[in-house]
Amino acid sequence: MILRSGLKSFAIAVLAAIGWMKLKLQRQPTLIILTYHRTLPKHHPDREYEQPGMVTAPEVLAKHVDAMSAIGAEPIHLNEWLNKRKEGLPLPRLSYAVTFDDGWRDNYQYAYPILLEKNVPATIFLVTKLVDTEKTFWPEQVLKLVTTQAIPHAAKEFEWLKPFLPHNQPSVPLSLEEADEVIGKLKSLDDQTILSHLNDLPPIYTDHGGKKSGRAILNTDEVNEMASDGLVKYGGHTRHHFRLNRLDDDLALQQEIAGCMEDLQVLNYGQIPVFCYPNGDITDRGQSLVKAHFQAACTTKLGWNTSKQDSYDLHRFNLHDGNSASRLRLLSTIGRSIL
Ligand SMILES: [Zn+2]
Repeated sequence: MILRSGLKSFAIAVLAAIGWMKLKLQRQPTLIILTYHRTLPKHHPDREYEQPGMVTAPEVLAKHVDAMSAIGAEPIHLNEWLNKRKEGLPLPRLSYAVTFDDGWRDNYQYAYPILLEKNVPATIFLVTKLVDTEKTFWPEQVLKLVTTQAIPHAAKEFEWLKPFLPHNQPSVPLSLEEADEVIGKLKSLDDQTILSHLNDLPPIYTDHGGKKSGRAILNTDEVNEMASDGLVKYGGHTRHHFRLNRLDDDLALQQEIAGCMEDLQVLNYGQIPVFCYPNGDITDRGQSLVKAHFQAACTTKLGWNTSKQDSYDLHRFNLHDGNSASRLRLLSTIGRSIL
């Protein structure tokens, strides 16, 4: 068993090394885009109710910045890289851009100080109608719901959720891993349906003993402060984080894309923002609206970007504590994904 896992990590290390070698041999300027979601210290209470693949500790983020400079990658703002490319100006041989999806308040609290200290620019993709609210996304609501109490399978309020719950142990709250699986399965429903079911639940299930978790999403003051020295810029991540492939109605699609752009213009940072597809889901109609309103788009596809990369099909690496807590893990995660 030990031998097998040793061989496995050796194979992973070899694959990662080949990946990096391939990148080094790349002649065109190359951009690595790093994706983060939440930045929470190791013992922060919000970690109890979050999908593990969403969270990076601030010291891990700092380690990533150091690791990228150790391999000779220059930090660059995504907008700057795109603008330079458009104008035919020289691009760094190897650079990296930091991006955060969703607009979490913890990006301001725990990531921004690191970005400031290390002078690393970043893009935050805002879900514009959630800014200045105490709302969160449905996965966080579901996670809290099913990990803090046993869901009564027989109750009619939970008929919609029942098919997605594990059947074996209905009388205890779910573990974080089980809840994570429930969220994955729930993605077969559309976002508005899930949110309306959650809204309809009686407070007995959702007030969590009266303990308020507070605001989780950025507010305008934080957004402005981070933009004031130009270090952080903003992109669009729709108005409500509705997955585009779940929106049949063209008006709703327009609201989520063109409407999001209008909201960003109110922030008035004098640039055409970049879009980021929620959950990485792309549709033809969605993409044509994105092309009409934004200068580029980030996907969840893995890989680096050369100067020939389609602006509306930017590839990234999703990072979190689970896949990049050490420098070696980070380099291995990126290296083997670019094979
Ligand atoms: Zn998102």
